Amino acid sequence: MAPPDVVCGFFAWQRTETLVDHPVIVWFRQDLRLSDNPALAAAAADGRPLLPVYILDDETPAGWRPGAASRWWLHGSLERLSADLSALGAPLLLLRGNAEAVLPDLLRTTGATAVYWNRCYEPYAVERDSCIKTDLKSMGVEADSFNASLLFEPWEVRSQSGGRYRAFTPFWKACLRLSEPAAPLPAPTRIRGCDGVPAGESLADWRLRPSTPDWAGGLRASWTPGEAGARRRLQEFVDGALAGYASARDVPAVDATSRLSPHLHFGEIGPRAVWHAVVHRAAEDATVAQDGATAKFLSEIGWREFSYHLLFNFPALPDRNLRTEFDGFPWHDDSAHVRAWQRGRTGYPIVDAGMRQLWHTGWMHNRVRMVVASFLIKDLLIDWRVGEAWFWDTLVDADLANNAASWQWVAGSGADAAPYFRIFNPVLQGERFDPDGAYVRRWVPELSALPNSHIHRPWTASEAMLLQSDVKLGETYPNRIVDHGMARDRALAAYKTITRGAA
Ligand code: FAD
Repeated sequence: MAPPDVVCGFFAWQRTETLVDHPVIVWFRQDLRLSDNPALAAAAADGRPLLPVYILDDETPAGWRPGAASRWWLHGSLERLSADLSALGAPLLLLRGNAEAVLPDLLRTTGATAVYWNRCYEPYAVERDSCIKTDLKSMGVEADSFNASLLFEPWEVRSQSGGRYRAFTPFWKACLRLSEPAAPLPAPTRIRGCDGVPAGESLADWRLRPSTPDWAGGLRASWTPGEAGARRRLQEFVDGALAGYASARDVPAVDATSRLSPHLHFGEIGPRAVWHAVVHRAAEDATVAQDGATAKFLSEIGWREFSYHLLFNFPALPDRNLRTEFDGFPWHDDSAHVRAWQRGRTGYPIVDAGMRQLWHTGWMHNRVRMVVASFLIKDLLIDWRVGEAWFWDTLVDADLANNAASWQWVAGSGADAAPYFRIFNPVLQGERFDPDGAYVRRWVPELSALPNSHIHRPWTASEAMLLQSDVKLGETYPNRIVDHGMARDRALAAYKTITRGAA
């Protein structure tokens, strides 16, 4: 099955000699790069004048408009893309509004006869793009879309019976049986710009970055949005942490993962470039492939593919339980608990460290994401959608497919999900993956003087140890908002109510 966007797009366009000088519009969306950008490469290939445009789309459904951290990133990414395109001779035109209205207007004012873009897979984007293709076609405009963001199109990966996958392992095995992803395309070296471009908007006027207050200092210190930053990060990773990825990727105090997630989300780098860089490195240096590091890393890229496969095939994924028996789950509505979780004041050091890392840097280590999500859903019995929304607003890598699939995975309500009765113990998780407390000490400095034996369970420390470590529970650091043992029993009892209902 092909998506409607694709079905509508492949109409025959007979370009005549007289149209050769009509511009082609390249509509940038989540592909904010010049390299391995098939829409840009196709438009630049035949010498027509090229008009790159980005449209800040006000029609995105309210719940899924970019959150605050994503908006901060988007500003930096557009700034870089704009500079890179200007250097090649075709500055980026910034427009705002509903793309279905903006594009036809732009075609009229510029005389452009073609629009190219790279595909998005969010349900509203598929629907919008499909309508746009149909409209452009009815106007006699060439419209074509390409794949810049996935290794395998979600409709290409099918089970032997032709169905969609609900489990990761067979999905990824099926992906690996397909032909190897194509090598990334080079960036165009020259682009012919276009005359008579209408005035666009100014990036500063979009106010994507916070001003009063400016809370983005931690984000600025942690990240360099843009294609050059993405390429640098990939290079550093393949030359460094990749070799130890399989063993160190679960240790949050160590910089052992790629941190490519926001770059991949905004399309500053594509998965084909990541795939080939990793495979190339493993071929050059056998020690890199030795302990399964490359296979493990590529399978994480595979989880991203799987999330997109799920979102494309189950478009309600961000809002509705895939396992419908969860619709009757007795969630709690406790705003004080939600606030304590958001602010990193639950009294569980590993949870609080993760939530503070998120607030400060816009990113959280994957292991800790699982722990904090489990804590919210199972220890506090808060609906997974509350956590999903908070991550959406605060993550620089907030991604509809990955975020929704991951929250449903932790909740147990999703495809191939962790069973609900698997409840992370935040103390044991901390002791196992942060044994010397380095991660907690970094993000919860008020506990930094506690010895390793108590850094993940300060409430078990003696009065003398607390005094010596300068910790006053309930004052300098909060008391636990729930007792994990009690919370675990309560969660299992709540889960039984829905399994009984389903029986
Ligand atoms: P690496 O370990 O270096 O992995 C490389 C790439 O593979 C990542 O950049 C990412 O694109 C992909 N990847 C890795 N792990 C996963 C995974 N479990 N699921 C899907 N893709 C993965 N990831 C997002 O990109 N956006 C989100 O909004 C998001 N929300 C999450 C919410 C929860 C509750 C959980 C448990 C996980 C979430 N993840 C999300 C997945 C994962 O935590 C991040 O992709 C990863 O931590 C990013 O760090 P990295 O780039 O260093 O990952």
